[in-house]
Amino acid sequence: AELRELLLSRITDVPDYPQPGVMFKDITPLLADARAFGALTDAFADLCERYHADKVVGLEARGFILAAPVAVRAGIGFVPVRKAGKLPGATLGQSYDLEYGTAEVEIHADALAPGDRVLVIDDVLATGGTADASLQLVRRAGAEVAGLAVLLELGFLAGRQRLEPGLKGAPLEAL
Ligand code: IMP
Repeated sequence: AELRELLLSRITDVPDYPQPGVMFKDITPLLADARAFGALTDAFADLCERYHADKVVGLEARGFILAAPVAVRAGIGFVPVRKAGKLPGATLGQSYDLEYGTAEVEIHADALAPGDRVLVIDDVLATGGTADASLQLVRRAGAEVAGLAVLLELGFLAGRQRLEPGLKGAPLEAL
């Protein structure tokens, strides 16, 4: 409860960004606060231990910022899931529907191995499209999803419900 209050106190609301009518959750004040960023990193690292993860996957771009120190703290490797066209090696891609149009994310085809247990980390869970595509990529790369962890879940967008089939029983933790 204390962690939750600390984290929430460092996330600010930006109205009408990136479009009119959207209330954007800005995590940059949290990143700038060493105590809050440290507490968040510790909490994610605890989840790595609880779910026996041996790799952390971070989702571009804010997921990179959160997941990289978690990997170091937990003593396990970091693997990026990027927007299409950014990774240099052979990739697997997964497209998903947006409100208007589609998007695609990619992972290096050889980044994960059978038997790897992966904790997927992102900053904000909104509709769940990004996370759902990423869980599919982790599995297609041959690894197991140990769990999905986010800083903030926007419950009114029902991402948790959308993700239920894709999680296949793996935990979804919103700090
Ligand atoms: P979804 O695919 O609709 O769940 O959107 C999640 C993705 O969009 C995540 O990678 C987030 O970084 C980003 N996102 C959506 N809404 C917000 C927000 O209010 N603040 C920060 N990032 C957001």
